[in-house]
Amino acid sequence: MPARQPREGNHVNSPGSEASGPDFSPFERDRSGERQFAPSDTDRRGRVAAVFLDRDGVINENAFVNDPDDLVLIPGAGEAIARLNHACLPVVVVTNQGGIAMGHLTEETLGVIHAELRRRLAGAGASVDAIYYCPHIANARLIAYRIDCPCRKPGTGMLEKARDDLGIALSKSALVGDSTSDILAGIRAGCRTILVETGFGGKDGKVSAVPDAVVADLSAAVDLILGGGLS
Ligand SMILES: [Mg+2]
Ligand SMILES: [Zn+2]
Repeated sequence: MPARQPREGNHVNSPGSEASGPDFSPFERDRSGERQFAPSDTDRRGRVAAVFLDRDGVINENAFVNDPDDLVLIPGAGEAIARLNHACLPVVVVTNQGGIAMGHLTEETLGVIHAELRRRLAGAGASVDAIYYCPHIANARLIAYRIDCPCRKPGTGMLEKARDDLGIALSKSALVGDSTSDILAGIRAGCRTILVETGFGGKDGKVSAVPDAVVADLSAAVDLILGGGLS
């Protein structure tokens, strides 16, 4: 089995353009012949279930992260992602990064931040299969990023890009977020949605969206996903 290649990008700079396709499978079986994970399997087109994670307030504390030194992982988040890895569930980060549009950080710096995030997660034995970000805001300070972008959550663009790049079945997948805009994006895409009480804990007041479940943190969300309790 080839090594997983980290993929990263937004809808403009496709991470899938050089990728040959997903190199993971929920059909991997352990020695007993039992599936390691089977809550949602694949859809009829053979696309796989995945777990989408918001970044700020889910994986790391909900501070403004404009520098790698600003990253503070939420306790247990790395270990929770490692459990998804062991269950052969693709993990895809989808993050609004409007700070780029406002001039608070560059896409180059975001790349450095994500390299550091991957390094920290690796320390917990965890990895993410892809990171998608939207750098746009409709009223951006920087003209180059002034787009009412379909990728910006609650838009579903990043989820659809991941679906196409990685062969993900959105209807079999779960999304974990701390903002109402995350939850609405997941609902619009046809995913199961889990609101965590870390970060904004759903109190951002941006939009109206009712998740399928509310749990304390990412660790509890993974309990729910792997326990089959999300239906
Ligand atoms: Mg968030
Ligand atoms: Zn965008």
